[in-house]
Amino acid sequence: MAFEGLSEKLNATFKRLRGKGRLTENDVKEAMREVRLALLEADVSFKVVKEFVSHVTERATGADVLDSLTPAQQVIKIVNEELTALMGSTNSRISMANNGPTVVMMVGLQGAGKTTNGAKLAGLMRRQFGKRPLLAACDVYRPAAIEQLKVVGGQLDIPVFELGQGDPVHIAEEAIRHARDHGNDMVLLDTAGRLHVDTELMDELKRMKAAVHPNEILLVVDAMTGQDAVNAASAFDEALGIDGVVLTKLDGDARGGAALSIRATTGKPIKFVGTGEKLDMIELFHPDRMASRILG
Ligand code: GDP
Repeated sequence: MAFEGLSEKLNATFKRLRGKGRLTENDVKEAMREVRLALLEADVSFKVVKEFVSHVTERATGADVLDSLTPAQQVIKIVNEELTALMGSTNSRISMANNGPTVVMMVGLQGAGKTTNGAKLAGLMRRQFGKRPLLAACDVYRPAAIEQLKVVGGQLDIPVFELGQGDPVHIAEEAIRHARDHGNDMVLLDTAGRLHVDTELMDELKRMKAAVHPNEILLVVDAMTGQDAVNAASAFDEALGIDGVVLTKLDGDARGGAALSIRATTGKPIKFVGTGEKLDMIELFHPDRMASRILG
């Protein structure tokens, strides 16, 4: 699971800090140097680390902390709060449509986990929010993609709308019409992925966005790709505008750099995390719980 190394290093630092009793400003600064290194080793981006450490140091070297009865505890509490803030503070949910089906565009690079996590998200929405989702096969370039969506949809017993290889924008529109006619209150559009961000892909996604006015555009990125995931998030946000991120394969990511950098770098929250290959392995992302787990 993510953050093993980071967790271990931060815990060692804080254990030393707790062992000291009273703390000087220098003790805190020394601890922050270790925190800085631990975050960099976790593949958190340089700029994010710098700002984070400077925030924490400013708060943790004040007299209110150093003169308190439990200074080490106060420092740890500040790190916990700042880690939570770094990942977005509040839980970010999908904004639901007031009228008609909620339309969610799932976008991302090939292999990030878009198709499986679209289906997983549909399952989660039905389980936790009582939704009646429809999956729509809008990736018409990879013939196996439609089949794959039908397989995962079938496993979860979620209906899949497809029109074969036609125009993806038209398919999206038809899927929404179909949802309206069949009582589906949510449509998840599985869009095409590419190996790299390219203008052709973005143009198609922009056309779809303009045509269907999605309530939510979720970018799926692979946590194991670290800063590449962060770069993909920036690129998609600049070109298309995204509302949030689904961070997949957290189970295979030992470092955690993407989870800790995406919000600070792009301003867009992680809304869901994929935690395994099984189709129920998706969770709402809770920044506070994640921070506590890192410091756990
Ligand atoms: P797409 O090309 O973006 O649609 O990616 P897929 O949905 O086909 O997923 C690519 C691979 O990642 C598949 O083998 C999935 O089973 C796997 N995968 C997706 N999400 C997770 C996850 O959270 N954890 C793990 N370990 N594997 C995942």
